[in-house]
Amino acid sequence: MAKAMPNAFDADYLLVGGGLQNGLILLALAVRKPDASVLLLEQSAAIGGNHIWSFQALDLPAGALDWARPIIEHEWPGYQLYFDDSARWVQGAYRSLSSEHLHRLVMRAAARAQRIEVRLGTAVAAVDGHSVQLADGTHLRGRVVVDARGPEAARAMGSGRFSGGYQKFVGLECQLATPTDLAAPILMDTRCVQHDGFRFHYVLPFAPDRVLIEDTYFANTPDLDVDALSRTIVAEAPRLGLEVAEVLRTEVGVLPMPAWSHFRATDTSPITGGYAGGWFNPGTGYSLAAAAQLAEHLSAVPIADTFGPQWRHLTRRMRVQSQFLAFLNLLMFGFFHGPKRQRLMERFYMVSDPVIHRFFAMRNNPIDMWRIMYVGAPWTPKGWAKRPQRPAGA
Ligand SMILES: Cc1cc2nc3c(=O)[nH]c(=O)nc-3n(C[C@H](O)[C@H](O)[C@H](O)COP(=O)(O)OP(=O)(O)OC[C@H]3O[C@@H](n4cnc5c(N)ncnc54)[C@H](O)[C@@H]3O)c2cc1C
Repeated sequence: MAKAMPNAFDADYLLVGGGLQNGLILLALAVRKPDASVLLLEQSAAIGGNHIWSFQALDLPAGALDWARPIIEHEWPGYQLYFDDSARWVQGAYRSLSSEHLHRLVMRAAARAQRIEVRLGTAVAAVDGHSVQLADGTHLRGRVVVDARGPEAARAMGSGRFSGGYQKFVGLECQLATPTDLAAPILMDTRCVQHDGFRFHYVLPFAPDRVLIEDTYFANTPDLDVDALSRTIVAEAPRLGLEVAEVLRTEVGVLPMPAWSHFRATDTSPITGGYAGGWFNPGTGYSLAAAAQLAEHLSAVPIADTFGPQWRHLTRRMRVQSQFLAFLNLLMFGFFHGPKRQRLMERFYMVSDPVIHRFFAMRNNPIDMWRIMYVGAPWTPKGWAKRPQRPAGA
């Protein structure tokens, strides 16, 4: 049954697409603006698709935890990186969230709040200013419309000469034959046969007998042989100390890492949010940090001030970050091929933990930008890469 909405508008916030971006916005509004009416429209039968989203310490800043804490489904104190002749531990919360968890949180928030409604199985045909046309011809109006229909709109970002590359991967959530003592994620293990750009394994240990293993490539082309890579993951898992008993779930990602910023923000409704609007980190292909910043903004300012000074400050900052991170892609995918790309990544991880956290969270300051450029440069002494392993007991 439809819930009561204001007269002129069907909702204060009309959210198109029930993925990560609008899921976060709905959760933030539910906590920060319990009196606002929110209507979320999602074409499929569930919120969030089929993902495990990972995110780093600063991606959810402390100020956002009042609404965002429940999204933390798994949390570890940091993560490990392994390169051919170096390794390092990065200290700081590393977290993850599954689509199922986001679905549960969003549906629970809607069930509890009088003025929040989620319509699943509702396809939107067109979005314009303050109005939305559904596939069945119905029109709905929102004071602020957020159009976050996902990465399809971003498809062309990585194609063409010097237009960037892709982070592409196959991930298998696996039941292990014997429990692992791996207690923290491995963000990158590059000690595998290198081909198709820069390749590494990524591991998330959810439980002693359940892990996610991903075979990931920073590549210039988007093609991915999912069956072949799935077999390779199972065959190579023992090298990571993991023996796969059963594959529980498969996840596939081809995330554009564009060489030009695709961040688009206007000062009027609709807001094109999420991936489609360029609210993602071009340097990682990940979007949770940017999506959280948009959710934080919409939930923090009165609706009349949505496009006020704080919006302009946020969008200016995001544009600069997006341009800087895309420029790094231009360099990496344009000029660093084969082993050079691997060395570049190894050198990037010479920077200190806070610089890494700000890089992922799209909060690089000018000194960070200089450090990343300098440390990544081929002339930087390689000895800087020698970092200690994870300290005992950390
Ligand atoms: C496999 C994979 C793993 C990823 N892992 C991470 C990660 O670990 N960390 C991270 O930060 N990022 C990750 N990303 C990148 C990014 O966070 C996701 O792509 C993220 O889901 C983008 O959020 P979004 O809300 O823009 O789009 P989506 O989450 O894709 O949501 C878009 C929603 O809009 C709906 N929709 C589309 N068209 C219509 C329509 N016409 N009418 C109604 N609804 C519609 C879709 O059904 C979908 O539910 C990953 C991406 C993939 C593909």
